[in-house]
Amino acid sequence: MTGAARIQVAGVVQGVGFRPFVYNLARSRGLNGWVNNTSQGVTIVVEGDPEVVAAFPDDVWRLAPPMAVVQSVASTPETPEGFSDFEIRESEASGDLTLVSPDIATCPACLADMTDPANRRHGYAFTNCTNCGPRFTIVESLPYDRPATSMKSFEMCPECGAEYRDPDDRRFHAQPNACHVCGPRLYLNGGGAPEDLAWTPAEAATPLPGRTRDSEEARSADLLARAATMLLDGRVLAIKGLGGFHLACDATNEDAVGALRERKRRWGKPLAIMLPTVDAVRRYCEVGDEEQALLEGTKRPIVLLKLRGNAPGADIADARAAKWHEQAETTGSAVASCLSEAGVRDVRAADALAPSVAPGLAELGVMLPYTPLHHLLMDAVGGRPLVMTSGNLSDEPIAIDNAEALARLSPIADAFLLHDREIRQRYDDSVVRVVAGSTELVRRSRGYAPFPIALPFDTDVHILAAGPEQKSTFCLARGTHAFVSQHIGDMENAETLEAYERTLSLYEEMFRVEPALVAYDLHPEYLSTKFAKSLGLPAVGVQHHHAHIASVTAEHGISDKVVGIAYDGTGYGTDGTIWGGEVLIADWTGFERFAHLRPVPMPGGAAAIRRPARMASGLLSGIDEGLFDHPGAAILRESLTNSEQATLRAMATQGLNSPLTSSMGRLFDAVAALAGVRADALYEGQAAIELEALADPGERAAYHFALVGDSPVVIDPEPMVCALLADLASGVGASTISARFHNAVVAVTVEVASLACARAGGRHVALAGGVFMNRIVLAGVRAGLVAAGLVPLAHRELPMNDGDVSYGQAVVAWALRDTV
Ligand SMILES: [Zn+2]
Ligand SMILES: [Zn+2]
Repeated sequence: MTGAARIQVAGVVQGVGFRPFVYNLARSRGLNGWVNNTSQGVTIVVEGDPEVVAAFPDDVWRLAPPMAVVQSVASTPETPEGFSDFEIRESEASGDLTLVSPDIATCPACLADMTDPANRRHGYAFTNCTNCGPRFTIVESLPYDRPATSMKSFEMCPECGAEYRDPDDRRFHAQPNACHVCGPRLYLNGGGAPEDLAWTPAEAATPLPGRTRDSEEARSADLLARAATMLLDGRVLAIKGLGGFHLACDATNEDAVGALRERKRRWGKPLAIMLPTVDAVRRYCEVGDEEQALLEGTKRPIVLLKLRGNAPGADIADARAAKWHEQAETTGSAVASCLSEAGVRDVRAADALAPSVAPGLAELGVMLPYTPLHHLLMDAVGGRPLVMTSGNLSDEPIAIDNAEALARLSPIADAFLLHDREIRQRYDDSVVRVVAGSTELVRRSRGYAPFPIALPFDTDVHILAAGPEQKSTFCLARGTHAFVSQHIGDMENAETLEAYERTLSLYEEMFRVEPALVAYDLHPEYLSTKFAKSLGLPAVGVQHHHAHIASVTAEHGISDKVVGIAYDGTGYGTDGTIWGGEVLIADWTGFERFAHLRPVPMPGGAAAIRRPARMASGLLSGIDEGLFDHPGAAILRESLTNSEQATLRAMATQGLNSPLTSSMGRLFDAVAALAGVRADALYEGQAAIELEALADPGERAAYHFALVGDSPVVIDPEPMVCALLADLASGVGASTISARFHNAVVAVTVEVASLACARAGGRHVALAGGVFMNRIVLAGVRAGLVAAGLVPLAHRELPMNDGDVSYGQAVVAWALRDTV
């Protein structure tokens, strides 16, 4: 007697070795039939012993390959057809949804192949198998098959072809399978490298006759040795990676890091580094178990780690920026002179990190190699830490195309390490960190996106949520899936908008989404808002902080009214002012502004973001103009010129060009400027980050915020500011002041949340917004809420910062779909 079944498997089951797994499983069970990729996932038909057939769906669940994410296995009985063997059939395309795996870091077996001199992939920079390698970055369309990827231009050699067809081989149906002879190869342009190593546009289209393993292996080794020599000589290289270009240099060489910063015009923001192993990372940073697992895992994000020792170099970054602004118009180079002024180089150990890798910070972003090329390069530089930062000029999207990189990055890079496997989708490195035992995303991109985030409902209308302006993502919702795009960047220029639109059309095509409803931020000037409104579809405007809170609660599947704390830098309020210190009582359909920080003037608007000293004077004048003359405001007065002081006072008294803001992020900036941490910011939030970095963890005292009025309650910083000025006047140090301020923010947040919960009649408190990237605030508020008997909710799969806004917009638009 013969049994038969048709089994549908949904989830991430393509590009993860699923069909070979099914093939081998069926054969080991003595079953005949077939398996193929469809647009819904994988379809299996098996026939044979009825008991074995009946157990097969369970076996598929239980034994699925490590990179697969099986969401459902549905089995229906079939009439046996009398198959004589088990085969893998051609893929079928249809109108339904399929999921593709994000990219996967090089697996240990492939690494072993590359390092074994006898192996034919020894030293091969594009080694991969069904358990590892590029996926979404090379995909052009679905289902995931080689002709639908940028590997289609490489014809497999007989040996690779044999592996690809051999069900017992690790590379059976590994779509990017390749070797020295037939696959992508490396090129080195510039820096004095010989012409025959250089990539040219013609190179891409030409097949290469006469390639042999030996000649290619030698060429690749020569090329990598030259690239390594350049790096060790202090030069800046543009390196083509998985989802885009990196700019790389020796992280121990201050001149090299300085040159990179100067050319990229990135003054203060920390640079990520790559190190070969976790042991090497421990040389510079503290690494906990969870952090080690993230560093060594298959997603390989940048992990933010606590630096050992002090955080040097803030002065150098400032000196460099100032010097550059001074000299930019006349000369080109400012690095050497400002370095000698800072004069810190001589006291460092030979392999110490250059001070300007992460100036003024207690954290460092670190990643381990995640492609074969990275492993080979790390080897070639002898494990030297390398800066690996996005290959772009500040504010532009990361470069992905060879010709584009050669044009755009030539003012920055001395040479280019290129390859001829084209990148189809732009992906920055993801950034994560661990706070009080839980993993948090800071930037969700390579390795994470486009894996869908579950929706707590099933939407029949397809929704596009356009996202905010900063840390932009969009979100496409269909059925129970939300496809939140990878981090696209700050949508402040035409290049980023273009990258956004291109990524959006790819997502729409790939995940077969045809939006019939759009959601947008209320800020009328955001490019994303204008774009959303230009589509001519029914549209829902969503308040920025409401989107933050809906995003958190939807991820937890909570549709009831909850208390939401949204602390960030900027969000357009329903009254036209800038919000950012908000306590809402909200569900998905709407919100009540239960409490907010007292609004204060932001002299000069956006100029106050770049100059925290301005924000500090806005804070003082917003409370009481007389505070400006307080002895404790001496540091602030010193950081402002006389004419600036006069202007700021006039602006404040007459309310000129001084929009009001209730932003918590700006309050942090203002306090940092008052305490003398920083008068000018090289990037948004820098002052607040440095203020956090120097907080004394042993300090228990706290300043005090007053709670004034009702509906809404106003969180008034006046008593906090007065006590802080008194501390400054009596010479209390910045690290004590920082701790007392942080403690006060934590205490008042827990207090207001408790009041709001009493009003709302619930216990859940959703936390969102960039201010919660602050470890002291997040850990303190969480612990305080728990102690008060409340339940803090934070994101698990999305960042706390504006990277979560598009998902929240989609949820609110769905909840309001019948009103538009
Ligand atoms: Zn592998
Ligand atoms: Zn080959």
